[in-house]
Formats: sequence, structure tokens, C-alpha cells
Amino acid sequence: MSEIIYRDAKITGPQDSQPQQVKDIFPHISPVKKGDIVAIKIHPGEYGNTTHVRPVIVRTVVDLVKEAGGIPFVTDTTTLYKGMKLNAAELIEGAAMNGFTHASMNAPFIVADGLRGGDGEKIMINGQALDSITVASALAGADSMIVISHGKGHPASGFGGAVKHLGMGCLDRAGKIRVHEVGKPSIDPEKCIQCGICVETCPWGAISPPEIDHSKCCGELSCADSCPEEAIIPPHDATDRMQERLGEAAFGPVKALEGRIGYINWVYDLTPGCDCFNFSGERFVADIGILGGRDPVAIDAATIELVNERMKENGRSIYHIWGVDPWVHINAAQRIGCGKKEYKLTC
Ligand code: SF4
Ligand code: SF4
Repeated sequence: MSEIIYRDAKITGPQDSQPQQVKDIFPHISPVKKGDIVAIKIHPGEYGNTTHVRPVIVRTVVDLVKEAGGIPFVTDTTTLYKGMKLNAAELIEGAAMNGFTHASMNAPFIVADGLRGGDGEKIMINGQALDSITVASALAGADSMIVISHGKGHPASGFGGAVKHLGMGCLDRAGKIRVHEVGKPSIDPEKCIQCGICVETCPWGAISPPEIDHSKCCGELSCADSCPEEAIIPPHDATDRMQERLGEAAFGPVKALEGRIGYINWVYDLTPGCDCFNFSGERFVADIGILGGRDPVAIDAATIELVNERMKENGRSIYHIWGVDPWVHINAAQRIGCGKKEYKLTC
């Protein structure tokens, strides 16, 4: 059973500030050895999103890594959807617009999977859905890693935390496509009004309404969100199958780094949507605090249970945010060997 360190969000003075919470947690979760090149994996948020992890949290981790003798770099990967993360140039620009710069973080920000997401390393994982997955090369090649995740809701996985960060955010483009490809949608011709919005949304030129070319489509479903008529429909089992793959893919970075990963879940500003959204929705529950651990399954299990405990007062759980059960991807991650759901919470 792994230990999860928890600092409550109730702040009464500087001894409870968020940077201090990180300083309290770090010695318990750090995998850093002297001389390590250390990836600090973050999501800097889309432009327009203002509820992502703050640069000062990252700065605190950078300074702690340096104190431990490590050589830190802060990093993220490109995306499959249009926005500020489709390629490395825009991702670095977008991160700077949200305040993630060398000056603010005291370490360089680099893109882990190259200019267009093509820079990855194949890792055999022997899962039920995925035999292998490709991990962003700068992460697979690091000596150790700290994954800083924003705990929040997510339309595809119910909850987004450490496992989601590993099984999607740490992959290169090909890896992300492997996870998403079970979501390739179709257009209902009866509902489609030929407005063309989806054509503009799709980065892969896959749509000629009412047809979608599945040889070009990667299943990331930004078109479905954009359609004003709800005419774009994914396969009925897409969410569960995507979550199964997500949980299994999380084993890729865990295996590549042979477990030399520490996890921080920053569970403030709990929005329904993820930090890929170019806006921030209203918080669905009060701040929880910061958790740290060495097991991604255990830290997410602890986070979900703390959130559910808080939501219970209103007869709800995180499931009710999107009608998506987050335990599907957590269970898949446990089954393949990423970690175990059992934990001991140390406050
Ligand atoms: S966005 Fe929807 S309604 Fe508009 S063209 Fe695409 S499928 Fe049709
Ligand atoms: S057709 Fe839709 S799901 Fe497929 S790549 Fe384009 S936007 Fe993504």
C-alpha cells in the first residue's frame, strides 16, 4: 500500500501556502538523484483557460529539483486538436502567454515530442487493448520525472489527474492517436445542416459533410463538440474503450522511466472541463488541496475519493459532472501494472 501525502486547502497562514504545501510534500515523493536530468511534466493550459496549475507551483518544484542536485526542464507535448498546442512553436508561445517562461519557472520549457509531435519512443506494454505505445522522447529519455497534474473533471474520462496525464499527456502524436482512434465518429445526415463548422474545426481535413474519411480521422472528437446540431456521433462504446486505452497507455511512461516518477496532484479550481478547454468553467466543488505520491493509481484514487466525499453533501459524485465513470481508466491502469488503488493518506 503506497503512502499519499495530503495537504488540505484550508489556508490559515504562510505555513499553509501552496508553495509551502509543495515543499512539505516533495521530500516524500522525489525520485531525483544527483545529476539526474529531470522532466517536470505540466499542462500549461490553452489560451483562455485560467484555472490550470500556476507557474509558481512549477517554480517551487524546479527549485526543489535543483536543491536535490537535478537538472530540471519543464515540458509538455503537442495535441491532436486545433488550438495553441498543435505544434511546438505554438505550444511554447501559448505557454508563455499563460506565464510559463524561463524567467517565471527558473528552468527551460521544451516540447517533449518535437515540432509536430512525431518524436516518440515505442514501449512494449502488452495490454489487453494496446500491445505497445509511443512515449514522447524527451520524457522517455529523462532520468526521472515529476508529473504535476491539475485534478479536475474531464468529458472523456470523468476525472483528469496523474493517470490521464501519463496515458495521454506523456505520449507523442502517434501514441495519442492509438488511444483516441476508437472514437472515430459519423455524421447523421438527417441532422446535418451543412454549416461547415466541423470542417474548420478538424485539423486533419477528414470531413466533407455528411461524410467523415476514417483513414484521415484520428478520433479526437473536437468536431463533435463544435457541431451546433449535435449531428456528429461517436461509436456508442467510444468512452469506455478510450478510457481502457488511456489506463493502459499510462504504463508506457511508467515503464520507460522504470518507476522513477513522483506525482503531485494540484486539486484547486476544480472545473468540469480540462485545461485543454480555451475557457474555464465554474468550479463544481470547493478546493481540496495538494496530494503527492509515487503511485499514479493511488494518488488518483485518493483524489477522486476526497472529491466524492466533498460532493456527497449534495448527493453527487464526480461521475455526475459528465455521466462518465472515471474508475474505468483508473482500473485499467491498475490492471496493467501502473500501481494500486489502495493507499494510506498521511495528512
Ligand atoms: S458542424 Fe454539424 S451541422 Fe455543421 S456541417 Fe458539420 S455535421 Fe453538419
Ligand atoms: S473528423 Fe472529428 S474526430 Fe476525426 S480528426 Fe477531424 S475533428 Fe477529430
